[in-house]
Amino acid sequence: MKFATLTSCFERLEATSSRNDMTALLARLLAGSAPDEIGIVCYFVLGEIGPGYSGVNLGIGDRTAAAAIALAAGADPASVEAAARELGDYGDAAARLTGRPAEGLAEFFPTAGSLTVADVHRGFMEIARASGPGSADRKTRILAAMLAAATPLERRYLIRLVTGEMRLGAGDMTLLDALAEAFLGSKAQRPHLEHAYNLSSDIGHVARTLQERGLPGVSAISVTLHRPIRPMLTQRVALLSEILERIGSPVIAVEEKYDGERVQAHKDGDDVTLFSRRLSDVTHQYPDIVRHVRRCVTADTAILDGEAVAFDHETGIYRPFQTLMRRRRKHRVREVAGVIPAIYRVFDLLYVNGESYLRRSYPDRRARLEEVLGRDEQISPAGRIVTGDLDGITEFYLSCIERGLEGVVCKSCAEDSFYRAGAREWQWIKWKTDYAPDLSDTLDLVVIGANAGRGKRAGTYGSVLCAAYNNEEDIFQTVCGMGTGFSDADLADLPRRLAGVRVDRRPARVMVNPQAAPDFWFAPAKVVEVLGLEITESPVHTCNWDPERRRGLALRFPRFVRWRDEKSPEVATTVAEVAAMFRRRRGA
Ligand code: ATP
Repeated sequence: MKFATLTSCFERLEATSSRNDMTALLARLLAGSAPDEIGIVCYFVLGEIGPGYSGVNLGIGDRTAAAAIALAAGADPASVEAAARELGDYGDAAARLTGRPAEGLAEFFPTAGSLTVADVHRGFMEIARASGPGSADRKTRILAAMLAAATPLERRYLIRLVTGEMRLGAGDMTLLDALAEAFLGSKAQRPHLEHAYNLSSDIGHVARTLQERGLPGVSAISVTLHRPIRPMLTQRVALLSEILERIGSPVIAVEEKYDGERVQAHKDGDDVTLFSRRLSDVTHQYPDIVRHVRRCVTADTAILDGEAVAFDHETGIYRPFQTLMRRRRKHRVREVAGVIPAIYRVFDLLYVNGESYLRRSYPDRRARLEEVLGRDEQISPAGRIVTGDLDGITEFYLSCIERGLEGVVCKSCAEDSFYRAGAREWQWIKWKTDYAPDLSDTLDLVVIGANAGRGKRAGTYGSVLCAAYNNEEDIFQTVCGMGTGFSDADLADLPRRLAGVRVDRRPARVMVNPQAAPDFWFAPAKVVEVLGLEITESPVHTCNWDPERRRGLALRFPRFVRWRDEKSPEVATTVAEVAAMFRRRRGA
C-alpha cells in the first residue's frame, strides 16, 4: 500500500464527525491492506509503531523532529520551531516547509519515488535500532531522508507518528469494529476479535491472523509467554453491604488491596518479563521482583498477576504508591531499588507449565498459585480470608487499614469465576479507604476540550471539559467542566500537556451539546482523576444522554486530583458507572 493512500485516509478520518463514518472508512482501508501490511496499518491508525508491549522506542522528541525537518527542507531548525509554534504542530510545520534537502540524505533511506507503508515502517525500525555514540545524528538523518522522499501530507503524518501525536481519535475498539466489518461482514462479530485481543494485546497480530486465516485462526489465538494478557478489572459499590449480593456466590474471597503498581509476571525458565497495567514492558524497573520470581516460583513456566508494592522491611509496613513511583526512572534503577525495595503480592495465576488457567475458577487458580509459590516476605500470594458474612468482610477490611493497606478486593468463588481478561465485571469489587459517603470513588475522566483562561489565567486554559467513556457505543460523553483543584504549576503546564492532542474540530467519537462546546478541542487521549461532590441530572452534559427528556448526567463541584498518564481513555470511568452512582444516590 502506498503511504499516500494511508495518509489521505488519515486526513478523511480527522475530518469525520461521526463514529460510524470513522468505522466505515477504517473498514475500507483495512479491507484494502495486504497481509504483510495490515498489522502496521493498525498500529499507525492508533498512533503506534508496534504492539505496546514490544517497547519500540524511536527516541524522537520535538527537537530531533525540528532538526530533521530542517535538514529535509534546507532550512534552519529555528525557523522550523517558529513555524511549529505558529501552527501549534510540528507535523503541519513539516507539511508547509519547502526547499532543497541537504546533500547525501539518500544514503540513509534510499527509497526513490513514492513511499509505501512498508518503507515507512522499515525506516522507523532503523531509527529505533540506532543506539550508542552518534545515534542522535543517525536518527535525525534517517527521518530527514524519509521526509525528503515524502509529499506534504505524508510529511505531516510522518512527523506526528514519530513524535507520538497522531490525534486521529480512533481507539482499539473502533479498530476492532472496523476489522469485524471488513472481514466478517458486521460489527456484531467484534466479541470474537476482542477476545483474541484481550489474550494477545496485539491488534496487529489479530488483524493479520484474521486476514490470513479467518475466524478459525483468530479463535486459535491463545495465551503466549512474554505477551501480556489484558488485566481483569474491578467494579465498585456505594455500600459495603452491597458486595455479597452483587457478587452472588455464597462465600467470597476478601483479599488485601495493595497500593502499588499492577505487574503481570511471565516466567519462562530463568527468563522473566514484567508488564505494567498499560501492558508496557517494565522488567528493567523491577530487578528485585525479577529475582524473587526466578527464586520462588517453582513451575518452569507461569504467568502471575499481582501488585508491586514498596515495603519497609524494618517496620513491616507497606509504603504508598507515591513512594514506589520514585522508582520510575531510566538510570540508577538498582541503586534506588536498594533504598526503596519492592515486594510482589500475587493475586492470580493465569498460566502454568504450558496450560492456560483463564477458564479455571478463582478457587482452582488460587489453590494452584499456592502450590507454585511458597510464602516468602518478598513474594507471596495476596493475604485474604474466605467468608460469607458482612461482619467477616468488615473486620478484615479494618485490619487491612490498620496495616497501612488501601482496602480490600472481594472476589467471587463461584464455579464460573473465570479470569476475564480486559473485563470490568461484578466478580471483583474493590472497597477503599478514600470512599466518601456521597461519591463512592474518584472518577477517571478524559479531557476532550478546554476554554481559554481569562484574568489571572490568561495564556493558559481556564477550565477543561471532561468526559466519561461509553463502552457500549465506544464514544466519549461529557460529564463536567473543571477549573478547580489545579495548583499554579498544574495550570501553567496545561497548554504544554495538551498540545500534542489538540485538534481543529470536535473529534468523531466525542458527543457534546452545543451549550458545552469548548473553545479548544482535544482528541480523547489524556485521562485525569477527578473528585466530585455528587452526580446530578443535567440538560448540558451528554453522559447517559436521554434524547427524549434531553437530560444527561453531570458531576457537580469537580476538583482536579492528578493526571493518570498510565491509563488509556478506554479504561476511564464508564457512562454506566456514572449512571449507577447516580441511581444509588437517588435510591439512598
Ligand atoms: P482500575 O485498575 O480498576 O482501572 P485504578 O487503577 O484506579 O483502577 P484502583 O481503583 O485503586 O485502581 O483498584 C484496582 C487496582 O487495584 C487493580 O488494577 C490492581 O492494580 C490493584 N490491586 C491491589 N490489590 C489487588 C488485589 N488483591 N486484587 C486485584 N487488584 C488489586
